[in-house]
Amino acid sequence: RLADSGNAVMADRMIDLADIRNQLVEAAGTKTASFVSKNGDILVSDEISPREVIQLSHQNIKGFVMEQGGNTSHAAIIARSVGIPAVVGAKGIMKQIENQRIICLDGERGLVSINPSPHTRKRVEQFYAGQTQILQDKLDICRKESVTKDGEAFVIRANVEFLEELDNVRQFKAEGIGLLRTESIYLNREQFGSMQDQISFYGEILSKTDEDPVVIRLFDVGGDKFQGARIAEQNPFLGWRGIRMLLDEHNVLQEQLRAILISAGKHPGRVKLLVPMVSTLNEIKELKEEITKCRQDLIEEGFSVEEKIPLGIMVEIPSVAIQVEHFAPEVDFFSIGTNDLTQYLLAVDRGNALISKLYNQAHPSMWRLIDYIAEVAKKHGIPVDVCGELASNPVAAACLLGLGVSSLSMSPVHIPAVKALLLKCTQSDFKKLAKSVQQCKEIDEVETVFYNWKDNLI
Ligand code: PEP
Ligand code: MG
Repeated sequence: RLADSGNAVMADRMIDLADIRNQLVEAAGTKTASFVSKNGDILVSDEISPREVIQLSHQNIKGFVMEQGGNTSHAAIIARSVGIPAVVGAKGIMKQIENQRIICLDGERGLVSINPSPHTRKRVEQFYAGQTQILQDKLDICRKESVTKDGEAFVIRANVEFLEELDNVRQFKAEGIGLLRTESIYLNREQFGSMQDQISFYGEILSKTDEDPVVIRLFDVGGDKFQGARIAEQNPFLGWRGIRMLLDEHNVLQEQLRAILISAGKHPGRVKLLVPMVSTLNEIKELKEEITKCRQDLIEEGFSVEEKIPLGIMVEIPSVAIQVEHFAPEVDFFSIGTNDLTQYLLAVDRGNALISKLYNQAHPSMWRLIDYIAEVAKKHGIPVDVCGELASNPVAAACLLGLGVSSLSMSPVHIPAVKALLLKCTQSDFKKLAKSVQQCKEIDEVETVFYNWKDNLI
């Protein structure tokens, strides 16, 4: 009734009530994901949290359909990364589907078919029958060396959040981990846990990724990700998130730094540190002081720690992107977070289904900004990676390389398609594409450029 009251102040109170409801449900010990799937069910719901996605992924769930969310909402990214098809933003679907109905789901194209015809069911069965060959083809592509047709090397790394993804990192031959999201360590908890949990998580990741680099990102809690003590904020994406929270929560930050430095000490030369949601130079200065203090403490306690761990920032806030030349001297690398950069640049909530049409990471303004970041990085001689979802679109990945991006990082499931396309190109193909995209005024024009470029290539 509050939501429908037509009074904005009253409607806003809904957030507080929903929060109290959630806390009561949890305090009552009712597991939100207590549903057990016996037959490989598809779960249709209003909204599923990232935490529930991962819990349900261990319960033989074969697909998710949710009314809320956009393609880059965190729950959708997680579902894809553990290989479960998900259709998000399916407004009104709860009313259309009754329990125990047979439905077909196409996670790639965002299609749901209720009570499918025998023809559709047959197509789905054929699709499944062809999967073994498709996987074989993907493995063949990934075994090839990552070089363009004219002999230029390119680098594809993996975005990882859960240990469950490491099999795909290995089988699709990612050259290390370009983004290790660390929030998952506490996804199933209400409190930040012990440092030992973190050390074993990082240790497992490092020992299962050969000698490759691993970029560990500090906790990026807030937004639509886990928050230890839930705090109701009007605009969580613009709020107490990432490094902002960590610098206020000194103990949480120190504990994570300790865990990372101790783990890095056991695997010399492999770990890099990445900072989320940086918006001011002062945040980097304060963080460096925290790192120095942490190192000194560890040395005094007799731990072997590395002299220096490369420090990078997520470039995901427009003000940082625009002033990136001031940040370059302070850090060792940039990692462009296109998921957030898009939502802040276009003022479009990445998880809001109502406006998902406006959320497009390939928007012309994004290309202009990425071009500038890459140019500044080159001038300062530091690498610039892209770890947002934009890198997992094969043509966009080619365009990023054309702009001079040093490496691409993506959920491992996307590696085969991206690599397959990049192997067919030359440096000049990348450059031509990047040049054409820079002329575009509207997203439709970018899409046409993408389409024509790919068409000419084949
Ligand atoms: C991003 O913002 O592009 C990113 C990679 O980080 P996350 O999706 O975890 O916010
Ligand atoms: Mg981000």
